[in-house]
Amino acid sequence: MPAAAHIELNITALRHNACRAREFAPEAKLMAVIKANAYGHGLVLVANSLAEFVDAYAVARIDEAVRLRAANVQRRILVLQGFSSLDELKLMQRYQLESVIYTEQQVDILEAANLPGTLTIWLKIETGMNRLGFRPERFVAVLQRLQQCSSVHAEISFMTHFANADDLQDNKTTQQLQLFNETTKNYSGAKSSANSAAIIAWPATRQDWVRPGLMLYGASPMLQQTAQHQGLVPVMSLYARIIAIKQLKKGATVGYGGTWQAAKNTLLAVVSIGYGDGYPRHAKQGTPVLINNQRMPLVGRVSMDMITVDITEHAGIKSGDQVLLWGDGLPVEEVAACADTIPYTLLCGITQRVQIVIK
Ligand code: PLP
Repeated sequence: MPAAAHIELNITALRHNACRAREFAPEAKLMAVIKANAYGHGLVLVANSLAEFVDAYAVARIDEAVRLRAANVQRRILVLQGFSSLDELKLMQRYQLESVIYTEQQVDILEAANLPGTLTIWLKIETGMNRLGFRPERFVAVLQRLQQCSSVHAEISFMTHFANADDLQDNKTTQQLQLFNETTKNYSGAKSSANSAAIIAWPATRQDWVRPGLMLYGASPMLQQTAQHQGLVPVMSLYARIIAIKQLKKGATVGYGGTWQAAKNTLLAVVSIGYGDGYPRHAKQGTPVLINNQRMPLVGRVSMDMITVDITEHAGIKSGDQVLLWGDGLPVEEVAACADTIPYTLLCGITQRVQIVIK
């Protein structure tokens, strides 16, 4: 029997979602974004499960990439935050990792380095996110410096990242894409701009490489569209169990702060999950959970190890029954909205004590 709180990971769904990304961008190569423990799904598990379905992986940090190599992952791996010292550069080369280049300091390090071989790099262009990347006016000068570096592989790829691709009404994505294309138009390197939302909603962004993250895990990156609508299937389902059932008299309050008060005599289920497992502390009263395939509302505050659910309207529920917090039948996007957050944070936030069951 699984532990009090567990996630079930549907590997068939993960692969299906990768195929779905390919259907959106059939001409593009697929770089699966598996940073932050593959959005909480397990870095090595996800990499291995997708090995035959994608062309490369992207992670944020070098140590994530080294973990993949240590697990014998062979595919190309791009490190989105790249190196920031000579030692890191050497480490990246030792593990045959690829680096995003986004600052002049990185170019200085590359110029000074005397590597035995070359490093494959992706030059990042700042088109509107205002986080990482070179402004278009620096592009040619930086590229020339890099092309003269003996430590740099001759084929330099180009990338940018969208700030608002999840919003169909905002033409910032079009502007960013235009700036990216204009900046790189005279150069033959591979181009990559699309995250999940762009892959789904902005066809012109499906360039040589696409970089899906959230959609691989079966959640919708779009503000107004469900994952189901996009043909995506949730990979992670989070479950817990009812550990007690309580009769409350009208007027009784529940949990820390007594933030919820029974308006009538109430039947309450105490469920073995809390923010110590990654269930969001700020989930509002009324956030749905699924018991026996029926939706029931969370009441009272989320505590570290428990939540409380009003089951008054539903007969036949008993201690030991399984509760679905999100996943197959209850979109993580919906739960995230009830906690004023985004599905990314919920998926990434699953903690170590939650047992993993592979389906
Ligand atoms: N590309 C870059 C540079 C990213 O930082 C991310 C994630 O934040 C992605 C692609 C994937 O984004 P998403 O999960 O929205 O598909």
